[in-house]
Amino acid sequence: MRQFNIVVLGAGGVGKSALTVRFIRDVFVENYDPTIEEEYRRTIMVDGEVSSLEVLDTAGAEQFTSLNEVYIKSGRGFVLVFSLTQDASLKEVDNLRKQIYRIKGGDAGVPIVVVGTKLDLVNEREVQRSTIQSLSGRWDLPFYETSAKRNWHVTDVFEDLLRQMRIRYPAD
Ligand code: GDP
Ligand code: MG
Repeated sequence: MRQFNIVVLGAGGVGKSALTVRFIRDVFVENYDPTIEEEYRRTIMVDGEVSSLEVLDTAGAEQFTSLNEVYIKSGRGFVLVFSLTQDASLKEVDNLRKQIYRIKGGDAGVPIVVVGTKLDLVNEREVQRSTIQSLSGRWDLPFYETSAKRNWHVTDVFEDLLRQMRIRYPAD
């Protein structure tokens, strides 16, 4: 079975832990310690092939960019998380995206998926669909709008990323 490791990155409070745990254990837990970093593992069948995914739910504050650097060096796939209810959280995704390309030595084929969370909080939404479409085109990256609470489109994120990683690392 092929194995791939994924790093989940994004600003504090955007829902990285809720997204990760929804995918791994299929539950929604209201409150995670924002400072705890955890590595999870599960297998998943995509396109008739089972793979093992190791998912690192990071908890670093933005100012610890040197720690991010370590994760980015060792990571094969990246989930860049922002909250649909917080416009400002997109800025951190842009920073992370640039940092990943710098560390990986260019943007060709680095497996990345961008995830907007809290889709269920309709009345608190700040990031419009049109903004997402334009950024997706400009950055040439797939975006997903998700809710960990309602379990909307969470699995799609990891399936997309796995397909990208299989292409990028065909030998393993
Ligand atoms: P992290 O700091 O990025 O790991 O964020 P957490 O996963 O700890 O989530 C931060 C807060 O947002 C918590 O209160 C979660 O319950 C809440 N949250 C996360 N995902 C969702 C979601 O899909 N819907 C709603 N309504 N709340 C969410
Ligand atoms: Mg967390």
